[in-house]
Amino acid sequence: MPDILSAPLVVEFPFTRSLGPVQSAFLTGLRERTVLGVRTGDGKVLVPPVEYDPVTAEEIQDLVEVAATGTVTTWAWNPHPRRDQPLDTPFAWVLVRLDGADTALLHVLDAPGPDAVHTGMRVRVRWAGTRTGAITDIACFEPYEGEPGGSAPHDGEFADPVTGIVTPARLDYTYSPGRAQSAYLEALAGRRVVGERCPSCLKVYVPPRGACPTCGVATDERVEVGPRGTVTTFCVVNIKAKNLDIEVPYVYAHIALDGADLALHARIGGIPYDQVRMGLRVEPVWSEGNRHPDHYRPTGEPDADYDAYKELV
Ligand SMILES: [Zn+2]
Repeated sequence: MPDILSAPLVVEFPFTRSLGPVQSAFLTGLRERTVLGVRTGDGKVLVPPVEYDPVTAEEIQDLVEVAATGTVTTWAWNPHPRRDQPLDTPFAWVLVRLDGADTALLHVLDAPGPDAVHTGMRVRVRWAGTRTGAITDIACFEPYEGEPGGSAPHDGEFADPVTGIVTPARLDYTYSPGRAQSAYLEALAGRRVVGERCPSCLKVYVPPRGACPTCGVATDERVEVGPRGTVTTFCVVNIKAKNLDIEVPYVYAHIALDGADLALHARIGGIPYDQVRMGLRVEPVWSEGNRHPDHYRPTGEPDADYDAYKELV
């Protein structure tokens, strides 16, 4: 039995969205230290604003400037701030109903401890020193004892409005691949590809999952496959991914390694992208310090007959 592996796994992508007129005005307003809400058909002021009335679904664009002061409507203490949270010291998550608004905005409150926070407490915006047109232009809220502010109509017009934002999305996992994939990864470290055969249907799964999804039985017979294989299908990638140092266009393919009954996927190199084809015979190219093949390249053999891999497409 191999040791069961475990490693950090980060899934991260920047989400780019364009802003409609209401969200554009809201975020541009924050950049200019102005908090805007929107008035619904029945006169309620929503902060943060939305583009459609949540009751009637009517489009709404009647902007209102509300105060940078407000009241905490509920809260929760966060004793262990995580990466990229608004404050790096313990803080309270708060819903704040700003003066002039009828709904509450989710943000954070800078307070020395949970004993200093209560529902109904008065707070005000602490603006970020550098503002770009994002919710983080409000650095946080802080306790405030002064007079309540009011609200006033606002035309939402600003010079150089913010029209789009990039929101980083990131998920941090500790990933344990389990018995079958741990053995697969250990074999890859020795530049061998090892799958597992189903005792019932005899299919060889690469990478192995520890069970046959068709028969529902455990797989434990290790079978070395490849290293050569056949391209069963492929796509041409024309969009450059963040943090990936590969020039576009390039080809990403499904490859059935010899002896495997499941295609894995990998990049194809060593051949112009527009000459890659189904049936192309390929072999792995390993790089130093990398458990996986960097890519697959043509072997120079004649293409495989379609009948030889049609069940794996
Ligand atoms: Zn099976």
